Amino acid sequence: MTVSKLDNNLTELAQHLARFRDHTLGHFIDGRADGGRSGRDFDNLTPIDNSVIGRVAAGDAADVDAAATAAAAAFPSWRGLAGDARRALLHRIADGIEARGREIALVESYDTGQPLRFMSKAAARAAENFRFFADRAPTACEGRSMPAGDHVNYSLRQPIGPVGVITPWNTPFMLSTWKIAPALAAGCTVVHKPAEWSPLTAMLLAEICHEAGLPPGVLNTVNGIGEQAGRALTEHPAIKAVAFVGESTTGSHIMRQGAATLKRVHFELGGKNPVIVFADAELERALDAVTFMIYSLNGERCTSSSRLLVERPIYDEFVARVAERAGRIRVGHPLDPATEVGPLIHPRHFDKVCSYFAAAREEGARIAAGGVPCPLDGKGNFVAPTLFADADNTMRVAREEIFGPVLTAIPFADEAEALALANDTEYGLTGYVWTRDGGRGQRMALALEAGMVWVNSENNRHLPAPFGGMKMSGIGRDGGDYSFEFYMETKNVCMALDTHGVPSLGKTGAA
Ligand code: NAD
Repeated sequence: MTVSKLDNNLTELAQHLARFRDHTLGHFIDGRADGGRSGRDFDNLTPIDNSVIGRVAAGDAADVDAAATAAAAAFPSWRGLAGDARRALLHRIADGIEARGREIALVESYDTGQPLRFMSKAAARAAENFRFFADRAPTACEGRSMPAGDHVNYSLRQPIGPVGVITPWNTPFMLSTWKIAPALAAGCTVVHKPAEWSPLTAMLLAEICHEAGLPPGVLNTVNGIGEQAGRALTEHPAIKAVAFVGESTTGSHIMRQGAATLKRVHFELGGKNPVIVFADAELERALDAVTFMIYSLNGERCTSSSRLLVERPIYDEFVARVAERAGRIRVGHPLDPATEVGPLIHPRHFDKVCSYFAAAREEGARIAAGGVPCPLDGKGNFVAPTLFADADNTMRVAREEIFGPVLTAIPFADEAEALALANDTEYGLTGYVWTRDGGRGQRMALALEAGMVWVNSENNRHLPAPFGGMKMSGIGRDGGDYSFEFYMETKNVCMALDTHGVPSLGKTGAA
């Protein structure tokens, strides 16, 4: 362990954490820090040893109402601001994120257990999200013109109104910017409800936006428990749409909760994503990608490839090599720069992930790596990177989203069986295919029931490309113009050339 660097990071972190330790973390509403109306709060833990970082206000319907009212009041002037002005402001926010990038990375790492090596990049990616959508703000309203005989139709897009953004605890800062940046660029105002297990960096984002000059009420942050603050947000009549990232079952609740006010919803939900390795693949590259895509970010990643399907002739050797890699991954303190896997977010999630170790044994899968907790100095939510081998697709470990550094390997005989196994899941977020046969790569890509497919690659993102899932993995797409489709209404205007005959009634009848 690189103790000195860890110590340095902890010393630097202490300065940034003091405020969260000394004061209850409240909300940010209408351009001001807000202590909340409920008088209730809850503990926020660090997963490193489950000690309390500080208290967080448990927002309720009254807090959400204050935030939604502020967002509604700010909407007319924010939507009226010229696109160029919005672009300049969003770039200033990106500057602010970059300036506080180190603070964001340290705080997020401590709050979520995500290794600093990944969180350092998360702030840079968040700034990139703001810059990308900033540059599209001036043209977000553009539509099409459709001349039609005696008329000309033209369409344009207008922001839908105040929107709710509800985010989960895995890479919370980066994920929230992926939603909030396009909403602001489109001209919407926002009420953000961060996850209760990782609330800290959402407040940093609110502050950065405020310091960059975002007008009061344009971005409001309400902390709280999902079933209270989150629910109130999805039910509030001033909120016109809800962008939600989280579990599929929560998505169902939100759809029900938003029904009375006919909310437009965008859902990015769970996954049980297959990575399919054919015998002709470039196996070294496939091995790197397979290992990275399940064990990076603690496996707490919606796009992680958690089902490894391997063609039989190479199955034993490939699985043995993944097991060897898994066994060598450095599990440790997330602020240690050498750490590759940190602790899971919360004791409840830790218990859930560990429950699959017993389930795998009971169902008859072989535990080829890990399968045990591995506490640090006797504490924390650490688990050993785990590989369940020789599984079949009916086992719980092959069907349920575990959301930890846990991979399930299944052999297959041929292309048809690989496809059948890959698609035999209620989820449909991503699929990964490794083969040197270009035609087969294409056939698989077209036939996989997934919103996103990578052929001979891991999860490489291109911001204009659509991001989202099929089946129980989501509704709608993010990215580039797809984000604006959600945050904006398309309006059609039909202009007459004054050359057509207007139908009339009551001209010829008796008076
Ligand atoms: P979660 O569904 O438990 O919580 C997500 C958010 O929803 C939290 O802010 C929570 O407070 C809120 N919430 C909970 N109940 C609510 C309710 N009734 N009404 C309104 N809001 C409510 O999810 P999680 O455990 O925080 O995150 C992990 C999940 O997120 C995994 O399933 C993962 O696959 C998914 N995820 C998906 C993507 C994607 O792009 N598809 C990305 C990241 C995470």
